[in-house]
Amino acid sequence: MDNEYFTIQQASEGIWGAISVPGSGSLGNAAIIDLGDKTVVVDTTNLPQSGALLRHTAEQLTNKPVKYVVNTHFHGDHVNGNQEFMSSEFISTVWTRELLSDMGEVNIGHMQQNIQKLITSLDHLRSQQRDNHMLTEIDYDLSVQRTLYDAIPFLSRVIPTITFEDKLVIQGSKRTIEVLSYGGGHSLSDAVVYVPEEQTLIAGDLITTKTIPVMLYGNPYAWIRILKRIQKDLKINTIVPGHGDVSNSDRIMDVLNFLEKMIAYVTKAVTSGKSESYWLEQGVLQGYEDWHLPQYFRWNLRWLFNSMLVQNNR
Ligand SMILES: [Zn+2]
Repeated sequence: MDNEYFTIQQASEGIWGAISVPGSGSLGNAAIIDLGDKTVVVDTTNLPQSGALLRHTAEQLTNKPVKYVVNTHFHGDHVNGNQEFMSSEFISTVWTRELLSDMGEVNIGHMQQNIQKLITSLDHLRSQQRDNHMLTEIDYDLSVQRTLYDAIPFLSRVIPTITFEDKLVIQGSKRTIEVLSYGGGHSLSDAVVYVPEEQTLIAGDLITTKTIPVMLYGNPYAWIRILKRIQKDLKINTIVPGHGDVSNSDRIMDVLNFLEKMIAYVTKAVTSGKSESYWLEQGVLQGYEDWHLPQYFRWNLRWLFNSMLVQNNR
């Protein structure tokens, strides 16, 4: 069932994670859920070609076509494979639908320009690095951006048609899923899919495994509240995270700790009077040096540093 873009990790009975393979050009996990009489896919990866393989794998694993696709949030690494599910119905929060719809049709030239800029900045960052882990991770990211660049002319946007505010339940003959949203923390609006019978959560990017959580343009304070609510409300044994391997509920605590430490660290940085570049030179926060996406640590730091500076100067 594995292919060059993702490996299939069984999370629990009837639930599989499609876990992106670093360096393959693929980014963002997806999940496949067999409800008995119908099949649901959660997120569609960053590329049409891996989206097509995901649909094929879901049909093979469950012997049924994919009836519903849930988009946990609007980020490209979770929705770019949507176009390969044209006979499915798409589900998202009202906000995620708005965001996807406001983006309009893919502007090929504009998107190519943006990705080219990102590739140039990654190349530049790479030339300044000596740390092996950072170099490997930047190479993974470059493979993602270059593969995406080539796919841009073939991308088309698919907008969800079924929307919900905070909870949508889909009953199946074998198991039921709850599509839940507690607002936005990682993005402006984040949804998760909970399968009570299997005590399994498909978490989108609210929860990651050994991967630096991406905080840019999100709301870390709301994110912390959302994770505490998930801990309190849902009984969870297994998690299919947005990035990294299938794991258990300890990953919630990992992300909570990271967000809290990050807020404390950047608060200290802002009040220190030292410059942003001084803090960027300090490297990744202690304890997180071996996590995936260390380049996002820098981008998180820069973003949070500047948003806190703005707040302090108000
Ligand atoms: Zn995301």
